[in-house]
Amino acid sequence: MEKELISLIVPCYNEEEVLPLFRDEILRVTGKMKSRFPHLEFEFLFINDGSRDRTLDILREYSLADSRFRYISFSRNFGKEAGMFAGLENCKGDYAVILDADLQHPPKLIPQMYEYVRSGEFDCAGTRRVSRKGEPKLLSFFSESFYKVINKISQTYIINGAQDFRFMTRQMVDAILSMREYSRFSKGIFSWVGFRTKFIEIENTERAAGKTTWNFWKLLKYSFEGIFAFSTFPLSLAVIFAVISFIAAIVLLIFAIIKTSEMLGIMCLICFIGGIQLFCLGTLGQYIAKAYLEVKKRPIYIIGETEEIYKKRKE
Ligand code: UDP
Ligand code: MG
Repeated sequence: MEKELISLIVPCYNEEEVLPLFRDEILRVTGKMKSRFPHLEFEFLFINDGSRDRTLDILREYSLADSRFRYISFSRNFGKEAGMFAGLENCKGDYAVILDADLQHPPKLIPQMYEYVRSGEFDCAGTRRVSRKGEPKLLSFFSESFYKVINKISQTYIINGAQDFRFMTRQMVDAILSMREYSRFSKGIFSWVGFRTKFIEIENTERAAGKTTWNFWKLLKYSFEGIFAFSTFPLSLAVIFAVISFIAAIVLLIFAIIKTSEMLGIMCLICFIGGIQLFCLGTLGQYIAKAYLEVKKRPIYIIGETEEIYKKRKE
């Protein structure tokens, strides 16, 4: 059988504690796969996203010891989205798997994902969290609300609980790479490109070591990223409010005339219309800001070092 390469793409930000555990686990899982399917080859591509701990040293070490271990080290922290993009752009695999370093995306599911895609029935296999156990209640509430809202106002359906843990074909990778937008929201991008996706339902797993860099505000910001990147509804909202405010203005005017309370009428009007205008302007501003970033065509990431560069330098 012809050889097939599977690339594992791993975004890492300050993961020194968990990397050794992660390495053991992927070597165990891929070793097993290799003995079952000898035609499979593997490549482990780590993206060091400007870590401040020993992550880069560890990745250098791994790449010297085993040529299947590759890495791309960013010049600074660009965020997980940029990491995933860099991984997809630089991987050589016939298939690519994106997974977190903290073992919250269990590598032991990779063989099952491969089976789904190999069968030809699916182009992609991913995981979906069915429980939000161990997550703060308030966060769960906001997450649930986010999915409800975005699925109402966007044409791209975003599956509740779908994770970034994905096994996909080269065709799907290329499709994702063709979307070069700067404000990236992978949950939307995975769904926008289409393809047949099998979701494996999993329980929430705790981080194996280290700590998460996400907090409520970062998540909230990320949700808005999703809404502005995949829906133009907020723009029409501005128009709807404008119409309402126009009608309200007429009603207020009538009341002001009947009650002959000029002062009250005028003050209400000014406050109300002023608020609405600001709201519309703010909404427009959001999109202009996005368009501005896209128009600049800034790179999504900048490479500081790779295993190739490192090895050459050592020679
Ligand atoms: N990550 C990254 N850049 C960042 C933040 C996170 O590459 O700026 C990586 C991180 O190392 C991990 C994955 O993205 O492999 C998910 O991050 P984390 O576990 O902190 O998020 P959570 O699982 O809590 O959503
Ligand atoms: Mg995590």
